This record gives sequence, structure tokens and C-alpha cells, in this order.
Amino acid sequence: MTKLETIFSGEHEEVVFCNDKASGLKCLIAIHNTQLGPALGGCRMWNYESVDQALEDVLRLSKGMTYKAAVAGLNLGGGKAVIIADPKKDKSEALFRSYGTFVESLNGRYITAEDVGTDVNDMEYIFMETSNVVGVAETHGGSGDPSPWTAKGVLEGLRACVEQRLQKSSLAGLRVAVQGAGHVGQHLVDLFLKEGMQVFICDIDSSKTKELSDRPNITVVSTDDIYEVDADIFCPSALGAIINEKTIPKLKCKIVAGSANNQLATPECGDELFRRKITYAPDYAINAGGLMNVSIEFEGYDEKRANRMMRNIYYVMKTILQHSHMESLPEYKCADRVAQKRIAEISRLRGRFMGNSKPSFPGRIVRR
Ligand code: NAD
Repeated sequence: MTKLETIFSGEHEEVVFCNDKASGLKCLIAIHNTQLGPALGGCRMWNYESVDQALEDVLRLSKGMTYKAAVAGLNLGGGKAVIIADPKKDKSEALFRSYGTFVESLNGRYITAEDVGTDVNDMEYIFMETSNVVGVAETHGGSGDPSPWTAKGVLEGLRACVEQRLQKSSLAGLRVAVQGAGHVGQHLVDLFLKEGMQVFICDIDSSKTKELSDRPNITVVSTDDIYEVDADIFCPSALGAIINEKTIPKLKCKIVAGSANNQLATPECGDELFRRKITYAPDYAINAGGLMNVSIEFEGYDEKRANRMMRNIYYVMKTILQHSHMESLPEYKCADRVAQKRIAEISRLRGRFMGNSKPSFPGRIVRR
């Protein structure tokens, strides 16, 4: 079966190929599921080696967004976009405005935001062509960069993991190995230091860790050594598939909890972590803080509300870990169950009480 044929045998509702020669835009938008609401998910800009690779990524990431929104209790579906280009040299106003016109053409079925390789400045160009974009700057009534909120959410989820696995109510004195000193990674470091933790960090881009090495309680290590750090927690905050056959045997930690999407290379890697008694915080459950924060833009952004929502990640994670413990089931399977159950229940409710099974889209984003 070709990659394209897999779309028809899979679960995705819609996959859009966007091609604009004038601006150089080559992009894929995947809408996975809109049962709970419009598909919301970031726009990744990455120098993919092939269109097939980009397609695989967008299909996987958009499905993850469906599960993330469902577990987070949001009335949103899952979608994602990938722009095939180098974020270091291919960004332009025309490219992002062109992308914005494609998003607009989907009439609110897909709402875009930042992701790896894009930032709040790029959202500003997209916003010129469509209002179906969140994570725009505060000056435009948006919530700005979601990464500090993603980091706050990870911290809340980590508290639940530490309570369950290490039987500790405080993070002080714990050792954490952070992979990736990007947008989220930098905020995580600040939060971890505030909690009194000992931080180990790496990044493939040495300019990102340069200033960190002068700060107390931070040790910069190589990208190869990060897995083997004698830490309580491994915190993946770079790219996906880093929990794999090669890295699992190296891990000395008791908890894997970080912001990266799609951390498990295969589901079997989640089984293996469980077998080794390494508590795994399912990625889409612990990294939902940014999504929760931007979702508030639908009703008019309110920071106080965002802070309250972050605490929800602690409770979601507690529920998942308790299920896992009671049923002797790997954490990633328990998280999938929570997501699938909510999607099924809410879809049924909608069908019964509203006389149809079609999702109701907010259709507007309130900018104050
Ligand atoms: P980013 O691009 O700002 O940072 C990623 C960092 O990882 C970069 O500094 C990069 O140099 C580094 N990196 C890449 N490969 C590496 C490797 N093998 N070893 C060490 N470092 C490596 O991205 P971000 O916004 O900080 O997001 C980090 C992760 O969290 C991504 O997987 C993203 O999908 C996920 N995530 C981010 C958000 C958000 O709000 N930004 C929300 C949910 C999930």
C-alpha cells in the first residue's frame, strides 16, 4: 500500500495538500477527527527529506491532537499542518500569508497555531489572512507563545508522577535530565530550578545551552549522554521517537515525563518502560498546557483561567497513573482509553440530544 492509499484505510477525515509556487509554500494539513469540535493543532515547519515523510508526520501528529484535546477535556478535535521548508532560511511574509489563505479555505474545520519551527511572529502573518489561528500575540487579543504554558502543564503532570512513583510531595532535590533547550525546554529549566531541582540538559544546538552552563544547579551534557544521566526523571523536550529500542536500555531514571510529542517510537516501547517499572507520563496528556491555553482564545483570553486549567493536568495524570496501577496496564494504554471513552460518550450524547452527530463548531474566536 502506498502512503497515499493508507489515508483511505485510516481514520483521518481530511488531508489537504497545499501548493503555492509563487510563495514557495508546500504544505500538508491533516484533520483527524472533529467529533468533539474543530480540529486544532500547530503548524510545524521542518526540512523533511520527502513528502512521504511529511505525510507520515502530519497523520501521526494530527491523531495525537485528537487524543490530547479529548484527555484535556476540551471541545476540540485533532488536526495538524506541516510546511515542508527550512525554518532557518525559508520563512517569509508571503509564505505564511499563503498558508493562512489555505487555512481560511477550510471554513473553521481546522484552526492553526505554533509548533516546532514556527513562532508568534509567523502567526501574525497567518492572522492577516484568517481568524482561524490561535497563539497570536497578546496585542491582537491572543494568548501569545504557548510554550510557557506547556512547560507549566508538564510541571503539574510531573508532580502527579513523583507522588505516585517516588511517594514524594515535593520536587526539591530531584534530578531531572532535560533533552532539548528550545522554547519549552528553557521554560522547564526555570520552573525546575524554582522547585529546587538539579537540572541536566542537552541540545544539538550548542548556542541554546551556552548561557545555561553558567547558572547554578545546571549541568550541560552531550546529546548522547543525556539518556544515561543518573537522574530521577528523564524529560524529553525535543523531537519524537526518542524512547526506542536503543535508548530504553540506557535509561537510569524512574520517570519519563516531558513535553515532546510522540515520544514512544512504537507502542511496544511503552510496554517495555512499564515492564522496567519506569513510569511514563503519556506525552499528549502531560503536554496539553499550551493547547489548553490557546483554547481560551475562543471565549476571550483570560490568564487566570489558564492558570486554573493547568492544574487539571495534575488530576488527569493522577487518574491515568491510578488506572495503570490498578489494572497493571501501561500508562499509554490507559491514556488512550480515557481519550477514546470521552470521544465515544460525547459523540453519543450529541447524537441523542441534538438530533445529529455533527460537531458544533465555535465558528468564531473572540479577540478582546
Ligand atoms: P523548539 O524547536 O523550540 O525546541 C526543540 C529543541 O530541541 C531545539 O532547541 C533543538 O535544537 C533541540 N533538539 C532537536 N533534536 C535534538 C536532539 N536529538 N537532542 C537534543 N536536542 C535536540 O520546540 P519546542 O516548542 O520547545 O517544543 C519541544 C517539543 O515539545 C516538541 O516535540 C513539540 O512538538 C512539543 N510540544 C511543544 C509545545 C509548545 O507549546 N511549544 C506544545 C506541545 C508539545
